[in-house]
Amino acid sequence: MTEAWDAIVIGAGHNGLAAAGYLAKAGRRVLVLERREVVGGAVLTEEFHPGFRNSAAAYVVSLLRPEVIRELELKKHGFETMRMGGSFGAFGDGRSLLLSGGEAADRAEVARFSNRDWDAMGRLGALLRKAGDLVRAEMLVEPPRLSGGGFADLLGGWRLGRGLKGLSPEERHQFLQLFLTPVGTILEKYFDSDAVKTMYAATATAGAFVALDEPGSAINLLHLGIGEVEGERGAWHLPKGGMGTVTQAMAKAAQSFGAEIRVKAPVATVLIEDGRAIGVTLETGEAIRAKVLLSNADPKRTFLGLVGEARLPEAFAAGIRSYRMASGSFRVNFALSGVPEFASRPGAGIGPQHKAFIRMVRDYAAYDEAFRAAKRGELPADPILDAVIPTATDPSLAPEGCHILSILAQHYPYELANGRTWDSARAEAVEGILATAERYIPNLRKLVLGWRAYSPADLERVFGLTGGDVYHGQLDPGQIFSLRPHPDAAQYRTPIKALYLCGAGAHPGGGVSGAPGRNAAMRVLKDWRRL
Ligand SMILES: Cc1cc2nc3c(=O)[nH]c(=O)nc-3n(C[C@H](O)[C@H](O)[C@H](O)COP(=O)(O)OP(=O)(O)OC[C@H]3O[C@@H](n4cnc5c(N)ncnc54)[C@H](O)[C@@H]3O)c2cc1C
Repeated sequence: MTEAWDAIVIGAGHNGLAAAGYLAKAGRRVLVLERREVVGGAVLTEEFHPGFRNSAAAYVVSLLRPEVIRELELKKHGFETMRMGGSFGAFGDGRSLLLSGGEAADRAEVARFSNRDWDAMGRLGALLRKAGDLVRAEMLVEPPRLSGGGFADLLGGWRLGRGLKGLSPEERHQFLQLFLTPVGTILEKYFDSDAVKTMYAATATAGAFVALDEPGSAINLLHLGIGEVEGERGAWHLPKGGMGTVTQAMAKAAQSFGAEIRVKAPVATVLIEDGRAIGVTLETGEAIRAKVLLSNADPKRTFLGLVGEARLPEAFAAGIRSYRMASGSFRVNFALSGVPEFASRPGAGIGPQHKAFIRMVRDYAAYDEAFRAAKRGELPADPILDAVIPTATDPSLAPEGCHILSILAQHYPYELANGRTWDSARAEAVEGILATAERYIPNLRKLVLGWRAYSPADLERVFGLTGGDVYHGQLDPGQIFSLRPHPDAAQYRTPIKALYLCGAGAHPGGGVSGAPGRNAAMRVLKDWRRL
């Protein structure tokens, strides 16, 4: 065995880097081992076409905790964001909805579709803000243990109960519905117009392989209430230079506190002696010892891959085997030679629609159709397109006058029907996305200089996301809080002593928050003397 470390972090995703930063800041000798040639996991910038750089996977910031930014001094290391301008929906009937934040203008926009929906948006927004405040307060706190917990667990349950007590009975009912009721039921209760329902459904299904009539499918809506950037709740920002700025700053922060980061260092196994993790072996065969291990890999990779089922309690292994991982997401960046012009908002220059969070969706029924197609293993005829044009806000990403159309499309199968592989279907999926987007942006095809795409299988192969799950496990009621990823690993400790989870497969889950990494590091530091 080579050199011994205090802590080894398996994986340099943003949560692994955050955990490494906190541990190194607390004086621990930390080694981060990343399988890829770059750090960042799903949070990185890449040159996807000569001269065009953009976020390769995650593309907007809203959930990153201000505590993490401050405590790891990320701004000192180059982290900087730019505010996006509202949201813009373009629909199959040729109409569009632009919400840019000015109350009178936004009200008038919504009134083109419904007389009631503006007020209903206000009511749902208020509920999401209240619910978001309650959930946000839990993000940097360990969830209580389901059984056998101590005083801290009792307090955790009490704190949550106290938060709920502050709500009126009606609000409490609605709060619980956000976790348990199908999002379709909620949207149909609040809204009349297809357009407004379509906009909210896009948030509910971003990175989430859920049908709108599925209980628990509204959980993603909470992102609208939890998000907070530069003190503004619910804001979406773009990091200057793409998402890689976040993880480059985190890597520099961890290194400034003394952590060492090795890339091209895939961990093959967790070494275990007498039920205790004592180190890792790399795929090269090199063994490295440490007092404690933190895994940033997802729960299936960590437990079924690096540890191995045979070394886990049987019931726990069965729980991880049945942990649901799927996102139905397909990611593509297009390099464009000029400004994409929306048919519904003509004009050759950059307008507010370009700076907004863009949804190009035929109509509300398209969600169900895309979901059912993906369930059958087919590509959707009318994919749901969430998009940003980052160059409208940050021109430094592309050559002068050029633009990037950055799309997260839903719903796509991880496994294609009839044994077809994604290598043979990737280009067809991109063509489908291009043809769909072209209906809203007629000049798009002639602007396209090149693209790079990641299918669900590519997300697994390239980024290590099992099943292509962008959140390290679906965010449904059975897989959040004290149940994520399993009651015996929900406080970052695992059934293997000295092995902790520090990635999005632990509370509070997926998204670029830094919270699982911070929480896991805090748990390790609390346990340190007993390790
Ligand atoms: C396409 C896409 C779009 C998204 N969009 C957004 C968005 O806009 N906003 C948002 O907030 N969130 C978004 N997300 C979700 C968010 O990016 C992820 O939930 C989050 O980044 C997960 O972070 P993590 O550090 O826990 O894990 P990861 O980023 O998955 O990092 C895990 C790291 O571990 C490494 N690893 C795995 N196994 C090993 C091994 N054996 N040895 C060594 N290293 C290993 C991996 O290579 C990887 O670097 C998106 C995700 C994707 C994929």
